[in-house]
Amino acid sequence: MSSHNDKYETLVKIAKKRGIFWPAFEIYGGVAGFYEYGPVGVLIKRHIINEWLRQVVYSRDGLVVEVDTPIITPRIVLKASGHEDNFTDPVTECLKCGRTFRADHLIEEKLGINAEGLPLDKMAEIIRKHNIRCPVCGGELSPPKPALLLFKTEIGPYKGSPAYLRPETAQGMFVSFKNVFNAMRNRLPLGIAQVGRVGRNEISPRQGLIRLREFTIIEIEFFFDPEKQDEEVKKYITREILEEKMNVITAEMKQNDIKEPKQYTAKELIEEEIVKTPWMAYWMAVGNQFLRSLGIPPDKIRFDEKLPEERAHYSEQTFDQEVFTEKYGWVEVAGYSYRTTYDLSRHIEFSGADLTAFRRYEKPREKEVFKIKPNPAEIRRRYAEKFAEIMKRLAKIPQEELADKIIKQGYIDLDGIRLDKECFFIKREIVKIHGEKFIPHVVEPSFGLERIFYVVLENSLKITPERTFLALPPRIAPYYVAVFPLVSGSKEEYQRIKHIAWNIYRGLIAAGIPAYYDEEGSIGRRYARADEIGVPYAITVDYETIKDNTVTIRDRDTKQQERISIRDIYDYITSKTGLKNLWLELLDKELNKV
Ligand code: AMP
Repeated sequence: MSSHNDKYETLVKIAKKRGIFWPAFEIYGGVAGFYEYGPVGVLIKRHIINEWLRQVVYSRDGLVVEVDTPIITPRIVLKASGHEDNFTDPVTECLKCGRTFRADHLIEEKLGINAEGLPLDKMAEIIRKHNIRCPVCGGELSPPKPALLLFKTEIGPYKGSPAYLRPETAQGMFVSFKNVFNAMRNRLPLGIAQVGRVGRNEISPRQGLIRLREFTIIEIEFFFDPEKQDEEVKKYITREILEEKMNVITAEMKQNDIKEPKQYTAKELIEEEIVKTPWMAYWMAVGNQFLRSLGIPPDKIRFDEKLPEERAHYSEQTFDQEVFTEKYGWVEVAGYSYRTTYDLSRHIEFSGADLTAFRRYEKPREKEVFKIKPNPAEIRRRYAEKFAEIMKRLAKIPQEELADKIIKQGYIDLDGIRLDKECFFIKREIVKIHGEKFIPHVVEPSFGLERIFYVVLENSLKITPERTFLALPPRIAPYYVAVFPLVSGSKEEYQRIKHIAWNIYRGLIAAGIPAYYDEEGSIGRRYARADEIGVPYAITVDYETIKDNTVTIRDRDTKQQERISIRDIYDYITSKTGLKNLWLELLDKELNKV
């Protein structure tokens, strides 16, 4: 077995033994595409979400707010969004055993070519030409057909109305846009974020946490005015973001068969017009910083620009952010899509709601308008017998339409009755216009939480001859600190040691620091268990503690131990996990400015 498989096996074994993750519904034999998080896994997952909220959502100068919208979505919403018609994958069926497979994936596996987005008849041709057969029984395969990935349900018990589980959280942000926009006092740019569960009825998921049928998306719909994007991005983009280096394969490089990514800073992506909106580069850089903060080395992160045929139906430009894994190769962990006005326009069309924003002009603009009214005397003179009917019909035509026809065309035709200028009173006026309505554009950074969870775990798993440990960045570790009483001294002294250890543990929990207490087994075994779930610091209370109120604190990665006072534990942990330093550094930077 190759070493990456060994590593994966070790990870899966630890995950189950230590309560991180495992396949769901196990006692019933399991169902492909569903996983469960255990007690340790939920904590790691929550800490990744917290870091995402802290870094990506709430550190953006107030640009981004958060919502929480329903998972069950009425059919009309996903009809409007285009998912009901477009959210499909090509499926081929074995004519012998009846198993189904994703046609593009089969082609990719067998021939090593990228078949994503190919037309169905092209895939059918490839399958025929290369005689690709059922990987399980060797039977003949049917021509690929589109399979809808939406999970269907009903709202209401009897004759309910059709609904789907949402395949992305994004529609929640579009549908609630007006309310959020109003609540935020019509501010643009405005990001709306959501952390939420989604369902996709994937055809034959066989890749653990990478391809699930139910998973968590953490994403932002970022609304902006395309006419002001250049000046606005300048206001918010920091030097750090501008200088963030990313490995990028552009669509143009792909078309020229260049497979190695090139390094670009966000500044270069904007200046060289590789991105279709500067906000795209902004979010890609923020996403790159985020993944680096989770311990992923920069050379294992790349952005892959999708070719037009690989893009989702709503997207004008998409970059997938990929991370290299030992088990699966490059894995897409996030997608950055320029959705333009697509979604809001469609919801305007389907709901009739006004989902526009208002763009105020710097100075009011003057506009020539024509007020137009029928001239009854003239119309009666020309068409006495049809006068009443003509007047009735004219009343139904909006002013603007009428003016447009008469001024530009010189007449209006009502099913053969021609009314020219002389049949109307026309008044020219100059009015002041203060602004105009427009539909905001959208860039969407969308992260798959379980994929991030997996790549972070795989990347942090260290296997050395003497131990196995998860070198998780402290802030996403399930517990920041473990507290161990050491068996030592007399029975009474050991009771006292346990009492102190227990109270250190309780104090940490009360102060909001994730901690756990363990008094079972040898101290070596306790360290080993803490290492395997990535706990960065372990405190040992021993005989010395009783005498001088000090404890030892051990570093997971170096195994070095220090002796510190009990009173300093809180400061030590908050410093080491970085939160205290972040606060001080930022404050110092700002205070030194003045
Ligand atoms: P998409 O809307 O398809 O770009 O998906 C957003 C993100 O969700 C992707 O970048 C992936 O990280 C993640 N994702 C998509 N499909 C799955 C799946 N079947 N299982 C787990 N994660 C997924």
